[in-house]
Amino acid sequence: MNEPILLVHGGAWSMPDELVAAHERGIRNALRAGWAVLERKASSLDAVEAAVRVMEDDDTFDAGRGSFLTTDGRVQCDALMMDGATLRAGGVGCVERIRNPISAARKVLEESAHVYFVGEGAERFAAAHGIELIANEELVIDREREHLRRCKEKAAQGMEFEIFAHSHDTVGAVALDAAGNLAAATSTGGTLNKTPGRVGDASLIGCGTYADNQSAAVSTTGWGEPFMKLVLGKWAVDQIAAGATPEAAAWAAMDYVKSRLNGHGGIILLDRNGRMGMAHNTSRMAVGYRRQSGEWCAVKLSRP
Ligand code: ASP
Repeated sequence: MNEPILLVHGGAWSMPDELVAAHERGIRNALRAGWAVLERKASSLDAVEAAVRVMEDDDTFDAGRGSFLTTDGRVQCDALMMDGATLRAGGVGCVERIRNPISAARKVLEESAHVYFVGEGAERFAAAHGIELIANEELVIDREREHLRRCKEKAAQGMEFEIFAHSHDTVGAVALDAAGNLAAATSTGGTLNKTPGRVGDASLIGCGTYADNQSAAVSTTGWGEPFMKLVLGKWAVDQIAAGATPEAAAWAAMDYVKSRLNGHGGIILLDRNGRMGMAHNTSRMAVGYRRQSGEWCAVKLSRP
C-alpha cells in the first residue's frame, strides 16, 4: 500500500501580482477534486483527470474555456494523459469543440487502439464515445479577445506583447495512487496568437507529459517549442531512472532547456516512491500538492 500523492501545476511565467490569488485558488480547487478521488481509493488516472478538469473549467488558466486564442480568434486545445502502469497513453490535438479535452484524451487512452487524434477526427472520436461537442464560442472569453487584439496590435508595430509574450498558463497533474501506480495529465490552449494547427509540447508523449511506473511521471508548462526539441519530459524522467532525485531532475531539466535553447517554463515530477520535484526558470509558477499530511501551494519556488 502506497501513500497517495497528487501534484498539480497551473502555468509558469511572470504572473502579475493581481493574478496570483486566482491561480492559488485554482490550484487548491484542483487539489481538492483530485484528492477526493485518491481518498476513495480510485486510480491515479481518475485523480489527474479530476484535477485537470477543474482547471480546464476555470477561466484563469490556458486550458479549456478561457484559453489563449489562435490568430483567427478560436480556442484550439491539446491534451494528453498517460498511465504509468501500462504505458497506455491518449492524446487529442487541435480540438475546438470539447469543453474538457483531458476527458477526450482519457477516452483515447482507454477506448482506442491508437494513441493520438487531431482536429475533426479527434472530435468525432470523442462524440462517438459520449463526449458532448459544443460551439467553439463557448470556450472564448472577452479577456482573451482583448489579449489577442493587443497582441496583434503590438505585432503590427514590430513589438512584443509585454508579459503575455511569455505567459504560460497550461495546467497539469501527476499522481501516485495507493496501488503504487503513477499517472500524468496535461491540458493546454497553447500559446497566444498561435497559427491554427500548431501543436505544442504539452500533449506530446515525452515532451510535456509522460508516466512510467518504473521511473516517474511528469507534466510541463512553458514555451513549447524548445521543450519539444529536447523531449524534455522524458529527459527528466530518464534522469530519475538513472538515480537523480525528482527535485534534482526538475531543476536540471530547466537548466538544460535554458542552456541549450534559451527555453523557459516549469516542470513537475513524481517518482514511484512518492518523491516530488518542482522547478521553473520563470519568475513564478503556480504549483501545489496534496498528501495525507496536508496540502501545500505556491506561486514561486526557491531553489535548494
Ligand atoms: N507549453 C504550452 C505550449 O507550448 C504552453 C504553456 O505551457 O502555457 O503549447
